[in-house]
Amino acid sequence: MTMRYISTRDDSRNSAPKNFTEILLGGLAPDGGLYLPESYPRITRAELDQWRGLSYADLAFAVLSKFIDDIPADDLKGLVDKTYTAEVYCNGRAGSKASDITPVRWLEPGLGLLELSNGPTLAFKDMAMQLLGNLFEYVLAKRGEEINILGATSGDTGSAAEYAMRGKHGVRVFMLSPHEKMSAFQRAQMYSLQDDNIYNIAVRGMFDDAQDIVKAVSNDHAFKEKYKIGAVNSINWARVVAQVVYYFKGYFSATQSNAEQVDFAVPSGNFGNICAGHIARMMGLPIARLVMATNENDVLDEFFHTGVYRPRSTAETQATSSPSMDISKASNFERFVFDLVGRDPAVIRRLWTKIDSGGSFDLSSMPCFANLPQFGFVSGKSTHADRLRTISQTFEKYGVMVDTHTADGLKVAVEQLVPDRSMVVLETALPAKFEETIIEALGRRPERPASFQGIENLPQRVEVMDVSVDAVKRYIVQHVGA
Ligand SMILES: *Cc1c(COP(=O)(O)O)cnc(C)c1O
Repeated sequence: MTMRYISTRDDSRNSAPKNFTEILLGGLAPDGGLYLPESYPRITRAELDQWRGLSYADLAFAVLSKFIDDIPADDLKGLVDKTYTAEVYCNGRAGSKASDITPVRWLEPGLGLLELSNGPTLAFKDMAMQLLGNLFEYVLAKRGEEINILGATSGDTGSAAEYAMRGKHGVRVFMLSPHEKMSAFQRAQMYSLQDDNIYNIAVRGMFDDAQDIVKAVSNDHAFKEKYKIGAVNSINWARVVAQVVYYFKGYFSATQSNAEQVDFAVPSGNFGNICAGHIARMMGLPIARLVMATNENDVLDEFFHTGVYRPRSTAETQATSSPSMDISKASNFERFVFDLVGRDPAVIRRLWTKIDSGGSFDLSSMPCFANLPQFGFVSGKSTHADRLRTISQTFEKYGVMVDTHTADGLKVAVEQLVPDRSMVVLETALPAKFEETIIEALGRRPERPASFQGIENLPQRVEVMDVSVDAVKRYIVQHVGA
């Protein structure tokens, strides 16, 4: 079997389909689209039966092998085994075993949390980002190349990227963050890293200023080429495919046999996490429904109810107590719409011409919209008040503390529960990351994993700068060398 990748905006008449390693280091396709496999591999019932008993690492190898055919099997196995270990993923909670990577914690029969946040930065992004770090190092070494990852973060993504790339050969990370805008915990998490290849830059401005600098540098094509600037943002295909694995793992934990179906509920922002669930379902994993939860920034909830996709302006985007879901547009959404419109790149080009020029589109009158139910999506939203109520009720009723994002997922999941089918809510972060809102909801501090005690007191390494594209470029040049 060969596996090739195409862009959502191109048909293979214009550019040849690519291999996995060819799209690994890049972001968008040259035509502005997102990469997807030419077709989704279908999993047979016999394979599902075999996969049921596998450890996380073995399951990851089985799933990823369906999507990657240009890394020798032994090498891929080595990379996966090195990534998915108890040392890396059982940071958050005491007493876990290797086999417990992403266990399901049952709140009551039929309602469980898939624990995805026991990795080094206490959020689910570690599940994929750690693999990305090892894949990058491997592919760069093979080619004798280097990459300088440039990014901007308001918290979670930057730390997940730094913990994944620290100490990796051939990789440097330049991460911009808004000076004095992140929580003390988040600052400590990033700035206390002492690795030579990690560069933290605090910009005297807001997150958007940092993001604009990254865009400006990336749009300087000569600079980008000369200094080998790359990114690890959420549209990266390898991140999406690595997330497919835990839907399989969660399904096996939640069921006795492969004849059963489950529902998954997913707190969503850029649509990367739930897009992986969609792909698992397209592969034939018996998922009945994908329950998508948004916070007050409900651009996706609106789409699933009306067929209208209307990205918001920055001014319309609210800063909420589930900040990692505060998005104005959902960058991975194009992948799902590609499937919904029958994989016609011409339709995607037409729709995203509107989006990219600041507009919106309405699919409700298109014939393909009638196909939406067959994809299993349902959606709902959750507000600050819902979040506080869910956090306190979950603590009272089950003695379990959930973070603000997971609370959004849980709130919508409970609305969508049906008898005789389990609902698995994806836990996207631990409460320790969002202390302030937990105190507001419960009047007490969340527990902190032992390895994070006193992290605020560690020495920090950060360069503070004005909002200046030139200053950031100079800094990169100085530390990369020409
Ligand atoms: C990134 C993130 C999300 C949103 O995930 P998407 O893949 O962007 O939909 C939700 N919760 C937390 C804690 C996150 O870090």
